[in-house]
Amino acid sequence: MSDYATLLKASGLKATFQRMIVLETIECDGHRSVEEIHEVLKESYPSISLATIYKNITMLQEKGILTEVPIVGRKSKYELSKSEHIHLVCTLCGGVEDHPYPPQSDEVLRPLIAKEQFALQKRDINLYGICHLCQVASTS
Ligand SMILES: [Zn+2]
Ligand SMILES: [Zn+2]
Repeated sequence: MSDYATLLKASGLKATFQRMIVLETIECDGHRSVEEIHEVLKESYPSISLATIYKNITMLQEKGILTEVPIVGRKSKYELSKSEHIHLVCTLCGGVEDHPYPPQSDEVLRPLIAKEQFALQKRDINLYGICHLCQVASTS
């Protein structure tokens, strides 16, 4: 588990209890939507509101601590920002899997970036489809 207090302070944010538990809940599962985080947290903290979680997520995202993973046809999920990776996103169950960038992807993209004289800041590749489990479930 990460040192959330240090992470928050390094970004100029107060290490509030709510921010810490939101980060812990997200890291626990890898990727979670605001609603999923609320579902989990309200079991232990019945007074925590969806609006509070939403507000904190927005702030954590603005500070770069969280990264949004858009999901076609569903609410976005959020993850702790880490080194660049590819997402395999299942549009049926909403599952999100992390995979490292294939080293060849650089070789493929570099000529395009050079040709367009594009100052690349970040690669964000999400592949959308049906995960293996959902494919199996739909044929049985
Ligand atoms: Zn699936
Ligand atoms: Zn991820």
